[in-house]
Amino acid sequence: MAASGQWRGMGRLAEMAPALGRWPRFYSTSSTFAEVLRLPQKQLTRVVYPLRELAQHLVTDTGSGLIEQRLFDPSLEDIARAESVFEATARNRIEYLSSAVRLDHAPSLRQPEVCFIGRSNVGKSSLIKALFSLAPDVEVRISKKPGHTKKMNFFKVGKYFTLVDMPGYGYRAPEDFVDMVETYLKERKNLKRTFLLVDSVVGITKLDNIAIEMCEEFALPYVMVLTKIDKSSKGYLLKQVLQIQKFVNTQTQGCFPQLFPISAVTYSGVHLLKCFIADVTGSLK
Ligand code: GDP
Repeated sequence: MAASGQWRGMGRLAEMAPALGRWPRFYSTSSTFAEVLRLPQKQLTRVVYPLRELAQHLVTDTGSGLIEQRLFDPSLEDIARAESVFEATARNRIEYLSSAVRLDHAPSLRQPEVCFIGRSNVGKSSLIKALFSLAPDVEVRISKKPGHTKKMNFFKVGKYFTLVDMPGYGYRAPEDFVDMVETYLKERKNLKRTFLLVDSVVGITKLDNIAIEMCEEFALPYVMVLTKIDKSSKGYLLKQVLQIQKFVNTQTQGCFPQLFPISAVTYSGVHLLKCFIADVTGSLK
């Protein structure tokens, strides 16, 4: 696998196939990869490789633009292997560790770390819950009202890595949010990758831009995750993906060029993201 592989450049962005149908919701409500593997081919592609599925709807000669973005393109076997990293067992304890409002209150750990940032209501808790679906004892709170996560929450994933749920920015964000996040991003030594969540329905907002600028300023390697892809028609989603892809290619330096579209409702893209996290944290060695 080559999460850190060379960016091979992108072809011309394609024109959109007009009037694509809605993104069906029925294909999987199961988070278990073994069950996903039993899906018919088309549905399986949709759940496991949503970007590939979308790319199929691009005009053929120019559609390769998106397809070439597949820098991280693990096999189903690789993805199945990564699932075990996220599966809680007696030997692989996945648990909430602690919360902190300041970096000096954060647990001091040697393990690689990944963090998730995004504006309130982007679907961060839902995604983290989906990532931990094979660890049902881990409690990830999902807000009814936006803006409830006000601390950095640390979760231990076995011997492999720590996952940090950062406070959502925006509506009713804590006053010291920028200080907290900024200090963490700037100074956390074991931080391997930052996952910046963007709502695929809304696109990149001004608040997202602040987070992007922060990642760029600190020269962090970060990854853009597009949430709630089940909410839009395929045509709309494709338009959003192409727009965000263009932004990433032209306006960013540190952002991984491949986008990760996901849905915490259908689990589409979640298995691939798990595999990516396992890869960047060296969990698959
Ligand atoms: P957070 O504030 O970023 O942690 O966002 P939450 O995870 O609490 O989600 C905010 C709202 O969006 C909730 O009502 C969720 O049910 C909804 N939501 C989150 N992820 C998805 C998704 O993938 N699809 C859909 N349709 N709704 C989602």
